[in-house]
Amino acid sequence: MNKKKEMICIMCPMGCELTVEQVDGKIKVSGNTCNRGITFAEEELTSPKRMVTTSVKTEKGVKACKTTIPVPKDKVFEVVKEVEKLRLKSAKYGQIIIKNVLGTGADVIVTAND
Ligand code: SF4
Repeated sequence: MNKKKEMICIMCPMGCELTVEQVDGKIKVSGNTCNRGITFAEEELTSPKRMVTTSVKTEKGVKACKTTIPVPKDKVFEVVKEVEKLRLKSAKYGQIIIKNVLGTGADVIVTAND
């Protein structure tokens, strides 16, 4: 089966416009300026992933946090929901607040200082 898809590479601020064609099981990428665009397009077609940035509630307010690595795109909202369940006494920069969130292999860490 042949498939053709347009996408923007989000691996760097250049935002190259990629054309991805799948012909007889082989993936062909064009429009990329570097090889990271090929990796991005292949992953986007087979198992898309995203970093999750959100905030966690503490007794002093909210703190920014993020996953340490991208998680499967279809788990992004579930990860946000897991963080929303937390109410921490305090949170320090770099602190792991959820280890291996939803079995994705990603930890959720605090990214803001007091
Ligand atoms: S293909 Fe390379 S240069 Fe273009 S947006 Fe992706 S990472 Fe950046």
